Amino acid sequence: MDFSAILSTLDEQLKPYRQAMPATTRLPPVGRSRDEILRELAAIEAREVPRWREGYASGAVYHGEEDHIDFLNRVYAMCSQANPLHADLWPSLVKFEAEIVAMTAHMLGAGQVPPDAGPEERICGTVTSGGTESILLAMKAYRDRARERKGIAQPEIVAPVTAHAAYDKAAQYFGLKLVKVPVDEAFRADLDAVRTAVNENTSVIVASAPGFPHGTIDPVAELAAVAAERGTGCHVDACLGGFVLPWAERLGYPVPPFDFRVPGVTSISVDTHKYGYAPKGTSVILYRGQRLRHHQYYTTAEWPGGLYVSPTMAGSRPGALSAACWAALVSTGEDGYLEATRRILETAGTIKEGIRAIPGLRILGDPLWVVAFTSDEADIFQVLAAMGQRGWSLNPLNHPPALHIAVTLRHTRPGVAERFLADLRAAVEEARANPGAPGGAAAIYGLTATLPAEIVREALKAYLDYLYEV
Ligand SMILES: *Cc1c(COP(=O)(O)O)cnc(C)c1O
Repeated sequence: MDFSAILSTLDEQLKPYRQAMPATTRLPPVGRSRDEILRELAAIEAREVPRWREGYASGAVYHGEEDHIDFLNRVYAMCSQANPLHADLWPSLVKFEAEIVAMTAHMLGAGQVPPDAGPEERICGTVTSGGTESILLAMKAYRDRARERKGIAQPEIVAPVTAHAAYDKAAQYFGLKLVKVPVDEAFRADLDAVRTAVNENTSVIVASAPGFPHGTIDPVAELAAVAAERGTGCHVDACLGGFVLPWAERLGYPVPPFDFRVPGVTSISVDTHKYGYAPKGTSVILYRGQRLRHHQYYTTAEWPGGLYVSPTMAGSRPGALSAACWAALVSTGEDGYLEATRRILETAGTIKEGIRAIPGLRILGDPLWVVAFTSDEADIFQVLAAMGQRGWSLNPLNHPPALHIAVTLRHTRPGVAERFLADLRAAVEEARANPGAPGGAAAIYGLTATLPAEIVREALKAYLDYLYEV
């Protein structure tokens, strides 16, 4: 298989950006002027920012209002030297992180746990660098717990096929077995398949609230009940939904129980850097009980460098990101999240209605605000390419081929949803009128869906190599 066509497509996309700037492959013998560097960055900003600011992206930037960004930038600037590894130098950071965990836990049902509950009942957690790290750490904690409790040599994760790629990454990194179970016609984890997949090696059952591909919420209560009955953990991936579902519930939308109010739920990952409106680089992992969190920690008492502890994967960490995260949470507040969620769900309603009205399109499952759709009449990746030509950056999905848009505050501004629907209608008409292979990056999706996974994985490595070429 020749992937040079794919790489040249990629090259076409990236070349104009790369050519606009002189390539730097050596340290400048004499440091460059700060003014010149700032001018260079301003030129990049002028090219790149309008696309997401004007709402052409799915997900990516979840808030994006200028005053919000300016405020967070000021907080970041005040704490740019802080490193929570040195708790003695930056005790404020320790406080911020503990409060981020406490506020997030409370939002996700920790308030239901009685105040006099023991350490194995109380909800605790840590701040991490993102959803992937939250998930990796949880999977490591369940692995170590399974080893300690039951002597399981190769613990297993049971997860629906729609669970985030981070579970597969955890399995690769930590020598775990990932047992994938199918989803039903509504794109929710198939309960019977989960029951069958659980065995004595299962360390955790995964549920998403909602899942990234189709925005559908797995039957968390039922999955957690299976986990409790079989003496295993239940991790809820609320990376996408943690800062939306509690407010959606309060607004009266149909939200099935998904948080710590469900007895068998033993951990939750939730991304502050998505709908928590913090800058990129923070997430929270929450556990029911201290012992599970202990399985996440790293400690050593034998190192000549001294007693060393770190709660997450990194050693030194960017304290400014935690400070900005804290500032995002307390400046937004309950009223802010409620209002943001109201606007997002209303806009998503407009978008869903509009998609249903476009001949040839079909929405997958019954999502709230991450809306996946496909076509039985046009090549959906051709639609992706046609949307790309109109400036849109949507998420292509596989198995089955589809696209999704994760609705954010960027789409709630006047006219954005209408522009999306008008462009989508035109893109579908174009694809129906000119059946054939899609062009551009969309071609990659059409092609890879038909190739063995092994070959595609090698091609993806070539893609990463390519990104690192100057
Ligand atoms: C975004 C996301 C993740 C991974 O988060 P990153 O912050 O990109 O590492 C995991 N699960 C779900 C459901 C997500 O939407």
